[in-house]
Amino acid sequence: MAYHARQARVGDRVRHRQLAVLACLVLAGCAVNPATGQKELNLVSESQEIALGMQAAQQVSTQMGPYQDSAWSAYVSRLGLQLAAQSERPQLPWQFTVVDDPAVNAFALPGGFIYITRGILSNMNSEAELAGVLGHEIGHVTARHSATQMSRAQLAQLGLGLGTVLRPDMAQYAGVVGAGLQLLFLKYTRDDETQADMLGFRYSLRSGYDPHAMLDLFSMLQGVESASGQERLPTWAVTHPFPENRLAHTQRMLDSARTDYTGLTWDRESYVQQLDGMVYGTDPRQGYFDGQAFYHPELRFQVVFPTGWRTSNGFSAVTGLAEGQDGLLQLQLAGTTPITKSLQEFLAQPSVSAGPTSRAPVNGLPAASAQFSARLEQGTVQGHVAFITYGGRNYRLMALATSAQAATHDAAMRGWIASFRPLTDAARLDVGPKRIRVVRLTAPMTLAAFEKKYPSVVSADQLALLNGVETNGSFPKGRLVKRVVR
Ligand SMILES: [Zn+2]
Repeated sequence: MAYHARQARVGDRVRHRQLAVLACLVLAGCAVNPATGQKELNLVSESQEIALGMQAAQQVSTQMGPYQDSAWSAYVSRLGLQLAAQSERPQLPWQFTVVDDPAVNAFALPGGFIYITRGILSNMNSEAELAGVLGHEIGHVTARHSATQMSRAQLAQLGLGLGTVLRPDMAQYAGVVGAGLQLLFLKYTRDDETQADMLGFRYSLRSGYDPHAMLDLFSMLQGVESASGQERLPTWAVTHPFPENRLAHTQRMLDSARTDYTGLTWDRESYVQQLDGMVYGTDPRQGYFDGQAFYHPELRFQVVFPTGWRTSNGFSAVTGLAEGQDGLLQLQLAGTTPITKSLQEFLAQPSVSAGPTSRAPVNGLPAASAQFSARLEQGTVQGHVAFITYGGRNYRLMALATSAQAATHDAAMRGWIASFRPLTDAARLDVGPKRIRVVRLTAPMTLAAFEKKYPSVVSADQLALLNGVETNGSFPKGRLVKRVVR
């Protein structure tokens, strides 16, 4: 589904380019892009571009939280600003954010808002690689890739989370977040990527970093891509397609840019040392699944999703989707409004028709629930909604299904709401995230020997990927090597 969407956009973009060139021929007001040197029709002024970026940044902040580590945010900002100062658009209000996300990803919004996940940070092995990623994202901004593509209409859809996860009609109603960012993630074309790589290369080199690091970066992305199942999507390699061509393209740039790269910065040691203690993988303190059961140690609740439903723990909601995509479950915090009032407001929405309501507690917790149906553009849905008070917070549990499947899913929907209860199991409450630990080798060592001496909670393949070596590879004496511990 996402694949076809991307193909369609590529076609649109080609047509758009042809139109832009045509318009450039007949119109005044054509400008030369300072980064790419190409003529472009400025549909969006710089101040509009910044405003669009700020709006989108607002959306991002409702879907992704910052990684709470001031040393990392200061470090990434410092490096990002240094690279942006070497770009053709140093005057933009550049902002660099480390996102608390295990996915290997980075992305840019128009106007200079750049995001990089802790997942990609933990997989890199030098500051020069980081400069490559940041330079690439800066390149998307300076070349105005997103500014020219991001219409206001797209922005309006951002929070709705349609795309590959849910049927648009249900998502429109549910306001499910989580997949909305895919609109941003799928927007670049192959040409855009090549151009951003070229610009990232330029900014790295101007800042004194060895652009050979981009080869390491792309190899790592390829490794992550082939190692990851569906669970770690979307990754940078998905949103920034064609990694194998990028290796060859980077090699060509390296061959032609200069003959002597000696003395350029890599900063491997200091970079890897900084990763000591970084959270690795998903952080169970923000909720985790064990089978269909969901546990939230910080909010101290648990809830069980029906067998066979596809589940997802998003930043602001936990959701379940029926196999046939005809049923949806969504749990989220419901604010401070008293639950009876929240229920009234929910049922008072123009598209909603209220069914029977109830004040029966859920597992001893105060609750206000109702059955309802709702008219959507593409048909009617039926479901249950419950507002529950627990631990000083209110929760909204909403279950809905298409009218055709409402009877089939009814027991599952009721059962899901009835399963919400306090989490008291000490073993479930007392979970910590996995973390990276860095070891300095006092002797040369194979990866296999390292694993034996310093056990990790990840597979040998993952450990190899993390350290940028082959699974049968080895490390020299004195090398800083990452391991992952609980
Ligand atoms: Zn890109």
